[in-house]
Amino acid sequence: MEETIVKFRHCGKDIYSFSKQQNVCPACHDHLILRILDAPVALPSPFTNGHQTHCSFLIGATEGPWCLNEWSETELHVGLSDSTGLVYNYTLSGVQRDEHGWEQCVSIQLVPPYREDLKQLWDKELSHFSSLPAWTPERFHEEREFGSCCYGFTLTFINHMRSLDSKAPLSRNEFTSAYILSRMKHASMYIRVYEEISQNGFYIVDK
Ligand SMILES: [Zn+2]
Repeated sequence: MEETIVKFRHCGKDIYSFSKQQNVCPACHDHLILRILDAPVALPSPFTNGHQTHCSFLIGATEGPWCLNEWSETELHVGLSDSTGLVYNYTLSGVQRDEHGWEQCVSIQLVPPYREDLKQLWDKELSHFSSLPAWTPERFHEEREFGSCCYGFTLTFINHMRSLDSKAPLSRNEFTSAYILSRMKHASMYIRVYEEISQNGFYIVDK
C-alpha cells in the first residue's frame, strides 16, 4: 500500500483516488475545477511502523496488512513494543522479541511520549513479565478468533501496568471496544477504498 489516498468533493459526491492529478471528475465527467473547500485532502493511513511507535499495543497479520481487512475472521497477531522498538509477542515458540516484521501494523500508543519515567518502567516490567513461566511454549494454546493467546499475553501485561498505577483491570471486551474497534474499522475501510481505487481508479460515495 504505497500510494496516498486523497478525497475531494464534486457534484455532490465524495470521491477518493490516488494522489496523482485528476483532470476529469470520474462521476460526472466534467472538467475538475475545485473550489477551496473541495481541494483534495490526504486520507491518513491507518498503518504505522510498529518498531517506531514505542510502548504500544500492535495489531499485525502474518500475511501483511491486507489481512487486517476482515479482522474478526483472520488470524491476527498482536504484540507490545518497548521504548526501543523491540516487539514482544507470544507465539507457539514462546515470547519472541522481534527487531523487524512489524513495519505495517495498527499501533495504539499506551505511554505518552513525554513520560520518560513510565517508559523506563514499561521496559523493565515488560522484559521481566516476558520471562515469567506463564509464557512458555508448552502453555500456548491456539484459540480461534481474536482471542488467541498472544492477546492474553498483551492484555495481562497492560493490566499489570494498570495495577502499578492503581487502576482497575480491563476485561477483554472493555479493552477491545475502548482501544481497538475504531482503529480496526478505520483500517478495514481504508483497505476497502484502496482496493476499489486499485481496480477502478477511483471510489465514489454518493451523499
Ligand atoms: Zn463531478
